[in-house]
Amino acid sequence: MFFIFGIASKQQDLGPGATRACPRCHNTTQWSRVKSFRQFTLFFVIPVARWGRRQYEQCGICGATVEE
Ligand SMILES: [Zn+2]
Repeated sequence: MFFIFGIASKQQDLGPGATRACPRCHNTTQWSRVKSFRQFTLFFVIPVARWGRRQYEQCGICGATVEE
């Protein structure tokens, strides 16, 4: 038997988040809500396992993130 597998880090854009002042760049903008997780796949398409699920908001200017 021959298996091809991989581990991918996926990000999903959940749309606009809250308007907040960034702790890093000090700009007040609307942040984006992002969900990310790591996925173990077989033959690049069959998800076998997912872990490390995180949801956070990201500054559109400097990319700083804040966990929800
Ligand atoms: Zn920022």
